[in-house]
Amino acid sequence: MAKMTIEDLDLKDKKVLVRVDFNVPLKDGVITDDTRIKAALPTIKYVLDHDGKAILFSHLGRVKTEEDKAGKSLAPVAKRLSELLGKEVTFVPETRGEKLEAAIAGMKDGDVVLFENTRFEDIDGKKESKNDPELGKYWASLGDVFVNDAFGTAHRAHASNVGIASTGIPTVAGFLMEKEINFVGGLVENPKRPMVAILGGAKVSDKIGVIENLIDKADKILIGGGMTYTFYKALGHSVGKSICELDKVDLAKSLLEKADGKIILPIDTVCADDFSNDAHTEIHEKNVPDDLEGLDIGPKTVELFTKELQGAKSVVWNGPMGVFELSNFAKGTIGVCKAIAELPDAITIIGGGDSAAAAEQLGFADKFTHISTGGGASLELLEGKTLPGLAAINDK
Ligand code: ADP
Ligand code: MG
Repeated sequence: MAKMTIEDLDLKDKKVLVRVDFNVPLKDGVITDDTRIKAALPTIKYVLDHDGKAILFSHLGRVKTEEDKAGKSLAPVAKRLSELLGKEVTFVPETRGEKLEAAIAGMKDGDVVLFENTRFEDIDGKKESKNDPELGKYWASLGDVFVNDAFGTAHRAHASNVGIASTGIPTVAGFLMEKEINFVGGLVENPKRPMVAILGGAKVSDKIGVIENLIDKADKILIGGGMTYTFYKALGHSVGKSICELDKVDLAKSLLEKADGKIILPIDTVCADDFSNDAHTEIHEKNVPDDLEGLDIGPKTVELFTKELQGAKSVVWNGPMGVFELSNFAKGTIGVCKAIAELPDAITIIGGGDSAAAAEQLGFADKFTHISTGGGASLELLEGKTLPGLAAINDK
């Protein structure tokens, strides 16, 4: 990586500010998925093993009003982190002030402090999310060096990442940031070929940037999900009641022209008379009948996509092939997961929150080389955009 990483710093006796991504799902104060906490452990452990003092902070959800604070405290995360590390984590329920400063002043090498949700600073003027320079400066003043390991927020310029970095404090990437950039960024910039992109999800409008960027970079683009029907419309097929963005039909046409055969669309569709698991379903080739809606790719398409994936040396998957949340429309996504899982020696990557959830839910998570922890950030990498959080890290 062209950026400095935590391994380039001497951490001994240093107060190490670590921006982590602890934006975990919580239900009634209980963490329902601790993947992101686990993903931050290598960086935190590295700081402790090298005799640094780890000062951790993260955002959690969105906070606009005083009422929004309920259920958005990082206190449950501190508890879980302490269990995972097997050591005490001092939680400071503040984002600034004397208590926080005293806790940091009392730290010994190898100690861990986690302070409160950085977005609690958003209540009074969006200081965190609007990258208020005074806030970034204050947080920077609490440490000697800054490690940004929050890949999930790297597509945003906030006080807790870009703000701190722009004060001039030594700023490096943590291990998670490095891994995500190497896998997701590396796959886009310098893929092993042939490279196949599989794109799905609900809407073309969400994925235009990705399709445009990958048209030049991928060897093939397989398209499924709700996007299919905007492309079908562009080809003159009937789409019935399927999700279809009429204002994007011309764009779909021009993408198909530009792709020059690289874009491969489904050849059959699972059509339903209702958006539910109890719906009556029929499989149709290309044209969707007027009274039905397409909710998954059909079995012939799974076969076609499996064939198109053969020989791939790298694969990026973003967007489910159907409404996988309903079991009757999960077969396409399962089929594609299986086809990717069975590739003998390909680098396989998932970028996209719902796709990651689908792989997890359908039991394929351990079959991929890398599942990105940041939906929005990985999408922007796939779009070829520069992530401000990454750009603010010191160059090697
Ligand atoms: P990701 O988070 O992986 O980038 P998206 O957010 O773009 O994925 O899309 C995920 C959503 O797309 C899922 O909730 C899924 O139900 C929906 N979806 C997939 N296929 C269809 C379809 N044919 N019609 C309507 N929604 C669909
Ligand atoms: Mg999504």
